[in-house]
Amino acid sequence: MKPMPFIDLKAQQGLIRSRIDAAIKKVLDHGAYIMGPEVGEFEKQLAEFCGVKHAIGCANGTDALGLGLMAKGVGPGDAIFVPSFTYAATAEVVAWVGATIIFIDSLEGTYNMDPKSLEAGVHTAKKLGLKPCGVIPVDLFGQPADYDAIQSIADENDLWIMADGAQSFGAAYKGRKVGNIGDLATTSFFPAKPLGCYGDGGAIFTNDDVLASIIKSLRVHGQGTDKYDNVRVGMNGRLDTIQAAILIEKLKVFPDELVVRQKAADAYNAELKDIVHTPHLLEGATSSWAQYTVRLPEKINRTQLMVNLKEVGVPTMVYYGKPMHQQEAYKHYPVADEKGLPVCEALAKEVLSLPMSGYVTNEQLEKVIGAVHEFAR
Ligand SMILES: *Cc1c(COP(=O)(O)O)cnc(C)c1O
Repeated sequence: MKPMPFIDLKAQQGLIRSRIDAAIKKVLDHGAYIMGPEVGEFEKQLAEFCGVKHAIGCANGTDALGLGLMAKGVGPGDAIFVPSFTYAATAEVVAWVGATIIFIDSLEGTYNMDPKSLEAGVHTAKKLGLKPCGVIPVDLFGQPADYDAIQSIADENDLWIMADGAQSFGAAYKGRKVGNIGDLATTSFFPAKPLGCYGDGGAIFTNDDVLASIIKSLRVHGQGTDKYDNVRVGMNGRLDTIQAAILIEKLKVFPDELVVRQKAADAYNAELKDIVHTPHLLEGATSSWAQYTVRLPEKINRTQLMVNLKEVGVPTMVYYGKPMHQQEAYKHYPVADEKGLPVCEALAKEVLSLPMSGYVTNEQLEKVIGAVHEFAR
């Protein structure tokens, strides 16, 4: 049986292929492969879309996070608070700059950073003699973290916020679009993300003029008046012109895709809520549904369910099977509470992500839902 796609990238390409071809051809014709006109044009559209002052294209979502930490001058002795239930990149960049990661637990309902655990983490950092500096909440699976709750803890402790919106581009929190939340925000255009390019890409956002100009300099080897004038240690973190040209075309169809994703999530919620724990959105939050991730009750064996679904052509994934604080490369970093991070540890055992994209069809949804029902019987 031909399996359905887990994330359907082909359907989108079928719709916009001729426009993508024309956009790439234009770049090949003008030849400005690095920082060509499409980069600036896309950055302008991005900033407008998010309602933020500055959007700066980056080579990928990881570099975007790294540039943010470099711009903030983070280094050894600094404590940065990161949810443990996330993709490696969120924690990795903190290690890059020699700061200490403090891993924070998640909330049961939203899978996002638990503000209470963040408070405990700040306490832990101080006990360890570290300087609490910043927090990187992650908008896991497309839903913004609880930024009001996090902001009040940040204000109390003089922390800045860099929102990792790699999975949540297009979502909003209490009227603010992702990109316009926190002191800094980042996103990724990895192909499988809600807004994906055809390679690697990312962006960093801020309303702060000074931070924006530092980031633009850091992105090109810490350039001053030009790249042969180096006023700070930076990196090569630019977005390719070809990817910007592709993203300009993809941004045009993106709002329609968000509507399809929401409808798919609604259908899954309605039809699966009696069998599994369906995802919970905060009051005032929308999700871009990078993933549709449920929690399985104890009586459902995840491995068996995955095998059965695969047999009928329904692909599933586990995001994430091991929280970061238990990973070999990161397990020496402190956690918010020395007793452990119980919610992250439970989530890792219970979560399952179902097929989702801006092109998922009703037939595909019915098939997934039917197969889950069949297994539960
Ligand atoms: C994908 C992702 C990143 C990294 O983005 P890349 O473009 O792959 O470097 C960072 N954080 C989270 C939460 C992600 O899902």
